[in-house]
Amino acid sequence: MPQIHALITGGAGFIGSHLAESLLNAGQKVTVLDDLSTGRYSNLAQLEGREGFRLIIDTVLNDALSEELIRESDRVYHLASAVGVKLILEQPVRTIETIFRGTDVVLRHCTRFRKRVLIASTSEVYGKGTTVPFREDDDVLTGATCRHRWAYSCAKALDEFLALAHWRETRLPVVIARLFNTVGPRQVGQYGMVVPRFVEAALAGAPLTVYGDGQQTRCFCHVLDVVEALQNILEIPGCLGKVINLGSDEEVSINRLATTIIELLNSPSRIRHVPFEEAYGEGFEDMLRRVPDLERPRQLLGYSPKRDLKTIILDLAADLNSKRTAMVPS
Ligand code: UDP
Repeated sequence: MPQIHALITGGAGFIGSHLAESLLNAGQKVTVLDDLSTGRYSNLAQLEGREGFRLIIDTVLNDALSEELIRESDRVYHLASAVGVKLILEQPVRTIETIFRGTDVVLRHCTRFRKRVLIASTSEVYGKGTTVPFREDDDVLTGATCRHRWAYSCAKALDEFLALAHWRETRLPVVIARLFNTVGPRQVGQYGMVVPRFVEAALAGAPLTVYGDGQQTRCFCHVLDVVEALQNILEIPGCLGKVINLGSDEEVSINRLATTIIELLNSPSRIRHVPFEEAYGEGFEDMLRRVPDLERPRQLLGYSPKRDLKTIILDLAADLNSKRTAMVPS
């Protein structure tokens, strides 16, 4: 069988870099296109020099370059996106533009050259729906346009509409993966994600800052469980033209998450509660619960996440610890 050549946009990000490594390990050629806006070179440093690996530092919005890279690849994984609630609130224009324009560029060229493409979407698309678990065909419920959090959700929903429109009109072989909270090594707390923030704080003996009353829940999935599914998803014809949830359905409150991290890491840290307004500014709306229905990925992919919350926390802590050790001069 000829070697498959995969293009990963946003491949220097935390999920993309794991996917790049996994595809290379499976014998594929991998080109990463990333402008390093939220991705980091250090995520890929260990892949430099490996046969079949290439990193191009540029943006997916570079239409001519994207065209060329898509033409020469067999699979496209479109992961490039502004990420994290914090960034979305700080840079709303960039968020909307990069999400929608980037996906438009990718879908147009994939349509033209008939390339199989995965569009990474997000559970944010479900908005503030309260009936969990969320199924892919459920209605979505977003907030007012003056509340910028929902810009992310709506831009991603528009990406999904566009992808499904290409599938409907020309049978573009596209799959949309709605990723729920994905966590693991190489993730940093800088963009607001709660688990790396708590683990970083616990390792430093600093307070863990819980927003609101901490009773809101999330389901955290190990990045390697997500990446295994992403790797298979374009190879299964039944997945084409579908939206597919990916994540864990093990629900935990943010309070419990904080105490679990402190206990597991034997940390002297304390928990501090702060109001949402203090953390995100006036008028912020948080979701109380967010749980995926995993029936579809189970049926189509035989998907079932293998790594539990404890493994996630310990893997992340080991990664952060190794970086801290590396920074200490000998
Ligand atoms: N959160 C928190 N402290 C932090 C960062 C986040 O209590 O330092 C809360 C946040 O308000 C939310 C949950 O943790 O209820 C998950 O936040 P994250 O940004 O990781 O993911 P998302 O809100 O997108 O699910």
